[in-house]
Amino acid sequence: MNKILVTGALGQIGSELVVKLREIYGADHVVATDLKSSAHEITRSGPFELLDVTNDKAMFEIAKRYEVDTVIHLAALLSATAEEKPLLAWNLNMGGLMNALEVSRELGCQFFTPSSIGSFGPSTPKDNTPQDTIQRPNTMYGVNKVSGELLCDYYFHKYGLDTRGLRFPGLISYMTPPGGGTTDYAVEIYYAAVTAGRYTSYIAKDTNMDMMYMPDALNAIIELMEADSSRLMHRNSFNVTAMSVDPEAIAAAIRDEFPGFILDYDVDPKRQAIADSWPHSIDATAAKTEWGFHPRYDLKAMTKDMLSQLSERQM
Ligand code: NAD
Repeated sequence: MNKILVTGALGQIGSELVVKLREIYGADHVVATDLKSSAHEITRSGPFELLDVTNDKAMFEIAKRYEVDTVIHLAALLSATAEEKPLLAWNLNMGGLMNALEVSRELGCQFFTPSSIGSFGPSTPKDNTPQDTIQRPNTMYGVNKVSGELLCDYYFHKYGLDTRGLRFPGLISYMTPPGGGTTDYAVEIYYAAVTAGRYTSYIAKDTNMDMMYMPDALNAIIELMEADSSRLMHRNSFNVTAMSVDPEAIAAAIRDEFPGFILDYDVDPKRQAIADSWPHSIDATAAKTEWGFHPRYDLKAMTKDMLSQLSERQM
């Protein structure tokens, strides 16, 4: 990676990834793009362009003008929103990905896009879900993610494009609010702990899902992109996770810091149905052995950091 184009850069992942990439590769070497602008520092700390990823010509023009050699494609509609707007999800998630792959093929770029635990479905083994397994999701987001994984593999086999990807679990962060995913509760619960001392979960008790703290997710992207290509048996996409938790486990970890924290439930049947179709815990052995994935934050360490960062911002 030398000159990097990031799409969907103002989202939960992009807004932190761009900061980190600019620290490592230089501010001028990371071109942040998004559909809309904002007051976020990444729109001022280096190149920023407005880009609708469904506009193939605009994407090509920006990538060529900045002479990028790497495309990190993040723009997408997330699981809960995609279920509300399936047509928009298909057009954005598949159309945007196809455009990003074509631009990368034409310009010979290295390519990264995230998949998700949403690429699994009800018939996937739920515990210790293997890297290579049944993927028959029953959500539009899941259909998009499996199709995306296959499309990225296709571009690698057909054109030799250096495509790489990660199946992210729910990502937890304190900088930018999440953008309409099923695991958003696991971020909201920390904000609520700091501001109100209580949280009402839309996800039911005993619903275990994989999660990871944002610093581990950012490191995983960079380490995978920098990994020696000859070591990669898999490409699109690697299972990665740092913990498998349910709302009670997060609440218990919060109570270690904030003893009076109260958790109650008002389950949203739509998002619960999506959660019920996903694995309880996935197996990240392939990522560990092929490129050295090693998350640093478990639930306890993540909770301590989340609460201290959010408390500091309150002051
Ligand atoms: P997000 O919703 O926070 O951000 C998406 C960004 O894309 C937003 O800034 C939005 O303005 C932008 N966008 C929307 N439509 C666009 C368009 N037409 N053109 C250009 N930009 C557009 O998403 P995120 O959480 O940062 O996720 C990024 C990627 O990671 C997605 O592919 C998502 O599926 C994947 N992922 C995220 C998580 C998670 O927990 N955050 C988990 C698994 C996978």
